[in-house]
Amino acid sequence: EWTGEFPWTYQLKKDNFIYFGNVSFRPNQLESMNAILSNRDVFVLMPTGGGKSLCYQLPALWGPGVTIVVSPLISLITDQVSQLHERGIFAAALTASTTAQVRKSIFDDLRATFPRLRLLYVTPERISKSAMFHKYLTQLYNRNLLARFVIDEAHCVSQWGHDFRPDYTQLKLLKREFRGIPIMALTATATVEVREDIKVQLGIPNCVTFQQSFNRSNLTYYVREKKKNAIQEIAHEIRDKYARQCGIIYCLSQRDCEVLADTLYREYEILAAPYHAGLSDERRQLTHEDWMYGRVHVICATVAFGMGINKGDVRYVYHYSMPKNIEGYYQESGRAGRDGKRSDCILYFSHADRFRLLRMISDSEGSQEQILRNEQGVAKMASYCLNDVECRRQLLLAYFSESFDPVHCNPPCDNCDYTEPAAEIDFTEHALGLVKTCESIQEEIDKGPTAQYLIKVYRGCHSGLKAGHSSLSNFGKGKEMKEATCHRLIEDLISCQVFRVHTEIGPYGQVMATLQVNKSSSAYTCLCRGQRRFCLKTRAK
Ligand code: ADP
Repeated sequence: EWTGEFPWTYQLKKDNFIYFGNVSFRPNQLESMNAILSNRDVFVLMPTGGGKSLCYQLPALWGPGVTIVVSPLISLITDQVSQLHERGIFAAALTASTTAQVRKSIFDDLRATFPRLRLLYVTPERISKSAMFHKYLTQLYNRNLLARFVIDEAHCVSQWGHDFRPDYTQLKLLKREFRGIPIMALTATATVEVREDIKVQLGIPNCVTFQQSFNRSNLTYYVREKKKNAIQEIAHEIRDKYARQCGIIYCLSQRDCEVLADTLYREYEILAAPYHAGLSDERRQLTHEDWMYGRVHVICATVAFGMGINKGDVRYVYHYSMPKNIEGYYQESGRAGRDGKRSDCILYFSHADRFRLLRMISDSEGSQEQILRNEQGVAKMASYCLNDVECRRQLLLAYFSESFDPVHCNPPCDNCDYTEPAAEIDFTEHALGLVKTCESIQEEIDKGPTAQYLIKVYRGCHSGLKAGHSSLSNFGKGKEMKEATCHRLIEDLISCQVFRVHTEIGPYGQVMATLQVNKSSSAYTCLCRGQRRFCLKTRAK
């Protein structure tokens, strides 16, 4: 429906070559342009590096109207505007840091019979808070010179997304106040939930949606157990495998960033620098620039280093600690290989990090619902890490409701790089066993056990058990189970809320996470009645 000839087809093709130097379109680019130029609301879902900008920059050159682009970060806006200037396209930015002089020239242009400005980039608070800007928008609208609104990084509108920005919620008013002006929303993130929320928040229920595969075929995914020598392992790998190449190491805390950068630099002479919210704006800006120009090879960063990173040749992204959910992981690891060349994504998993995350969540402000959601996010992420069988791409893409056949996993992820086949095994019996064991321990010590402790009892390890626990009826029932399999089963039980995780600070300041059986969950009832199966794929090693 959105392919074929339209009145603007010739000009779009010509301008694509003249202004952007492209000889063809990528999947869904031309189609989304046709839809927006037909005055439909459009939703474009494309992975990072897919070519979202072109979808609205090119249509902006058609017709007399001005395209208003809402973007969350000044740095993103500055980048885009200067790139457009280099291409000879008339664009400008209106943000908190725009000088009075530039602002005046923008407003002068908007008053002209035919504005020369093709794209005007604004931060969301311009829309919600600036009466002056609002006045100019209304004037453009009344003169039929308001071509369309573009909402870049549209997931920022959703509370369920990974980067919620309160100012984005004000964008509701666009549809209300500028009736008939089409909206194009773009994002690289989209769980089904977030996707639906974006449509509701922006008031575009009937938009035409363009979605392409989220598979990043040039990225290879690995998960490793995080042992004491993880830093050394990373350092050696960077030195031997990625010498002089650029990458990112994501850390959980500012302190981790500092320690890691310091160790890499001092002990291994790797050009590494920290990046986190505890550093001054200037420091961060400088580090970012040094890295962009290759004067720094490795950035050790918290998630504060995120949106707006536009470096093509990132060859590796390490997660020194697990991320807080799968969506975050997809985004962060996705900063590798934007240029399409082979790159690696390596995640280090430890239970200790998982508890640190859970602790951060229970300490955070937010509704009970939000906290529960975040806990489940961690549980799903942990299941992904503990899964040593299924294709990583398949697992990641399933999260975005996309199916993927592992035979196409090439270069293969760690789990696909095996020859012996995996089989799905029914562990329902053991799921029930773990739950019942947890219940008996809970009754006795008035508090749930830690996952490690529960597994010890269930697998029948005597060492370190409290008196009486080795005579529980389920003691040793899972002696033929692997420890990792028990952990995976427990994560599944957390995901469906049979177990709840309770965190507290232990005697040495460490985070303790204990399990509690949630008898009021429907999954618990189903499990006890034999109405729900718990199956896992495993590999006989
Ligand atoms: P996204 O915003 O989806 O991450 P960008 O818009 O930054 O992606 O585009 C990623 C890269 O792809 C840019 O370098 C851009 O110039 C290039 N690109 C986009 N569309 C095309 C095309 N049709 N042909 C060739 N290169 C393209």
